[in-house]
Amino acid sequence: RLIVFEGIDGTGKSTQLRLVADVLRQRGYPVVATREPTDGPYGRRIRGLYANREGCSREEELQLFIADRRDHVDTVLQPALDAGRIILCDRYYLSTAAYQGANGMDVDTILARNRFAPVPDLAILFEAPIALGIERITASRGEHLNDFEKVEGLTRVARIFAALDLPYIRRINAAQPIDTVRDTILALVLPLLPPPS
Ligand code: C5P
Repeated sequence: RLIVFEGIDGTGKSTQLRLVADVLRQRGYPVVATREPTDGPYGRRIRGLYANREGCSREEELQLFIADRRDHVDTVLQPALDAGRIILCDRYYLSTAAYQGANGMDVDTILARNRFAPVPDLAILFEAPIALGIERITASRGEHLNDFEKVEGLTRVARIFAALDLPYIRRINAAQPIDTVRDTILALVLPLLPPPS
């Protein structure tokens, strides 16, 4: 099973992924927790771009995300799927659609260029007001994101997420208390899983 966690920054995806992975492991499920951009060579280059994207075009950036995903599919996702593991992935191609789409790339073209990637069984879309996400990031990571540009950018990203209409997407209210969000996710995930061995 491939279960992906998607949504704008500061909605608690990574925290919830850890909590859900813990519960599933306690129940005996073979869980693979992973993320994109990955920690591989392309993923590291992408993370480098967040600090300084000088000289990198939108198209080159998109190509890096796709190269990173190809690598991730080949080395981690497909082998884990073949082995019957449960993959929890922090960001996947819907994030590429939303973030690179917000940068001016065509969303349908981005999705088409991701057709090589396994379609998730479930994409949990974390929804919360942008101000809340920014507040959480500023508080927890000491980053300063509350400039106008960041709010505007995230608003465009959130609009694209909101407009995505795919049968495997489930939206959750990520502004709820942490345990409520975790239990809501588990209620979506557990019915997809076979009884643990
Ligand atoms: O996964 P995480 O929340 O750590 O992502 C941090 C940043 O990665 C986001 O603020 C976003 O700007 C960037 N990102 C991106 N395009 C993607 C995925 C993430 O620009 N496809």
